[in-house]
Amino acid sequence: MDQYDYIIAGSGCAGLSLLYRILKDPILKDKKILLLDKSEKNNNDRTWCYWEKGAGLFEEVVMHEWKTLAFLSDDFTNQFELKDYRYKMIQGLGFYDFVLKFASGFENLTFKYESILQIQTEGDLALVKTDEELYKAAYVFNSTSLFHPEINTDNSLLQHFQGWVIETEKPVFNPEIGTLMDFRLSQKNGATFMYVLPTSTTQALVEYTLFSPKVLQKEAYEAELKNYIRETLKIENYQITHTEYGVIPMSLAKFSRNPNEQKRIINIGTAGGYTKASSGYTFQFIQKNTQDIVAKLRLGEDPNSVMNFREKMFEWYDRTLLEVLISKRLEGKVVFATMFKKLSPEMILRFLGNESTLLEEFKIIKSLPIPPFLISGIKQLGNN
Ligand SMILES: Cc1cc2nc3c(=O)[nH]c(=O)nc-3n(C[C@H](O)[C@H](O)[C@H](O)COP(=O)(O)OP(=O)(O)OC[C@H]3O[C@@H](n4cnc5c(N)ncnc54)[C@H](O)[C@@H]3O)c2cc1C
Repeated sequence: MDQYDYIIAGSGCAGLSLLYRILKDPILKDKKILLLDKSEKNNNDRTWCYWEKGAGLFEEVVMHEWKTLAFLSDDFTNQFELKDYRYKMIQGLGFYDFVLKFASGFENLTFKYESILQIQTEGDLALVKTDEELYKAAYVFNSTSLFHPEINTDNSLLQHFQGWVIETEKPVFNPEIGTLMDFRLSQKNGATFMYVLPTSTTQALVEYTLFSPKVLQKEAYEAELKNYIRETLKIENYQITHTEYGVIPMSLAKFSRNPNEQKRIINIGTAGGYTKASSGYTFQFIQKNTQDIVAKLRLGEDPNSVMNFREKMFEWYDRTLLEVLISKRLEGKVVFATMFKKLSPEMILRFLGNESTLLEEFKIIKSLPIPPFLISGIKQLGNN
């Protein structure tokens, strides 16, 4: 049985973010590492958007960034310039290629494409069983769905979306302005909005997004996209150069950091609960978590982290907002329009990114209708 210092189980966003950070670290870069995934990362299977201050670790693969964002609903529209944050876009394939190219120069790193069947601990070691072999390591960092909790319509909504990258012959877009949410759409299936991110005057990602219990038929997304491009963006002639479809669970179910309290197995990424339940944003939370893991490993410390009081507070806000949406105490469109009408967008981004201050959180709570949030907040206190 091969033994490693670390096994990274799953080479998606979280696995490769962790790998890159380990290999960039002068103290950790020579550790014996095994990277496992069931398949090669050779598809542009997703686009990540996130916000951060200044240049991040993956700046080289940022495809575009926006300083100005727009929010639109029937009775209120706003275009706002960000001060400290930039809203950024990274293409999945660009990210995978970048990390894997960098990693290819390390002889202490082994890649294997095998399906992981089981991960468990035995004494001070973690064992990974695949369809071909059994491997052991001091720590396994898992981002596969092996330990995902049960997701159902009582505890979850799905964030599902279809996006098209479209190209026009004539210049029609302003690449300086990204539309974060355009709610001027039918809300009959749940919170529904368009996301429009122009990367040049002739190219944009247009994404039809819903938060609802069930996904739609493929044709429904396409019909809405066509209609929006024609009626709202007023574009008749365009080519679809890329299509993206995704479903992200927005769940009150607990994604545990260590399956069954096994400290040698550390869940990262969505598996570890780093998807913000009320918005689906994950990329920036993965970056903070993997940075924290590497900071501990390089000091020879236990890489496990215990949720501190502030993290628990943010989790409670997140669960409260999601519970309001699941229970339909308020329409998603009303929640987001109220926030964008009354509060500074920079503050909203700080709040959604777990970077706000207590005073800002008080202002946010005050801006929202109290009864529905109070009921959901009390319900979630017991579950936090
Ligand atoms: C289409 C799409 C768009 C998204 N857009 C955004 C966005 O704009 N911003 C944002 O913050 N978040 C976004 N997300 C959410 C989140 O950032 C991504 O899902 C992100 O990829 C999560 O990273 P991860 O490493 O946890 O999971 P993944 O990137 O999915 O990686 C998991 C890896 O585990 C492997 N694996 C799974 N099971 C096994 C097994 N049994 N054996 C071996 N390997 C296995 C998979 O092949 C995969 O490579 C998006 C999600 C999707 C699906």
